[in-house]
Amino acid sequence: MQYYNSETILFTNGQFERAVDVTTDLYGQSLHYGYAVFEGIRAYNTHNGTRIFKAREHFERLKRSAELLHIPFKWKVNDLIKQTYKLLELNNLKDAYIRPLIYCPPSMTLVAAQDSSIMICAWEWGAYSGSELLRLGISSYERPNPKSTPMEAKASGNYVNSILATTEAKSKGFDEALLLDMNRNIAEAPGANIFIEKNGRLFTPPLGNILPGLTRATVIDLCRVLDIELTEKHLTVKDLKHADSAFLCGTATEIAGLASVDDYVFPLTWTESAGATIQRTYKSLVLDKQNYETII
Ligand code: PMP
Repeated sequence: MQYYNSETILFTNGQFERAVDVTTDLYGQSLHYGYAVFEGIRAYNTHNGTRIFKAREHFERLKRSAELLHIPFKWKVNDLIKQTYKLLELNNLKDAYIRPLIYCPPSMTLVAAQDSSIMICAWEWGAYSGSELLRLGISSYERPNPKSTPMEAKASGNYVNSILATTEAKSKGFDEALLLDMNRNIAEAPGANIFIEKNGRLFTPPLGNILPGLTRATVIDLCRVLDIELTEKHLTVKDLKHADSAFLCGTATEIAGLASVDDYVFPLTWTESAGATIQRTYKSLVLDKQNYETII
């Protein structure tokens, strides 16, 4: 995957620069300790032009993540949204993945940073077909206890856990991992939240030990609109392995149906599941075919 080339422009601390000209400091606290926060955002080529889906919510979460880690956040959300649209224009991107990162200056101490920098980059990201069903394996890794690090924050350091879980799952022949929390309840995938379906009702783990996914929030809104009963509650592996169907959701993943977890195959045909209905509605929402305000 090539993320940039000699022409690519990124946004860094108030200016647009060529990615190949930007340097960073190898003594930075972010590089050494994973002390940084970031976002994963999507822009879609809609009939109304390029639209960044839930731009405000993503930058607000970036701000909240920085606050939770005591990293200074010096920017205005409105301005960051404006600059991101400009970034897409400068790079001639329509369907794109956008990655803002807030990182800290040189310091080898374990004291909270007094200053920070932002960079925003973007690369082309075509639409995901949504037809492939994923095979998940329950990870031997657990999501970190929120008493060890705030799991509500999208903190770079938390993703070591995600990398370990994904690597293990793939080495065992699964497409993706599913992690439990410290109480052995279902938490989330390394980069997505999970919903399960039983008798036409949807269930998802409550906030607390997971990243508060913006796609998860959209799915919950869509359940209300589509009149699908939704319950947020702690779920066990047994609940999962007795479910009719299940799906992952996230900005990159969108809505991805699951074929199986470990050796348990979900019995309901994906196209007949509530998840498939949500998947179709989500697609038209991000493509601006349905106006968010009118359907929610
Ligand atoms: N959980 C984790 C650990 C993630 O990295 C992501 C992706 N940001 C999600 C859930 C889904 O969040 P969102 O829907 O906001 O992309």
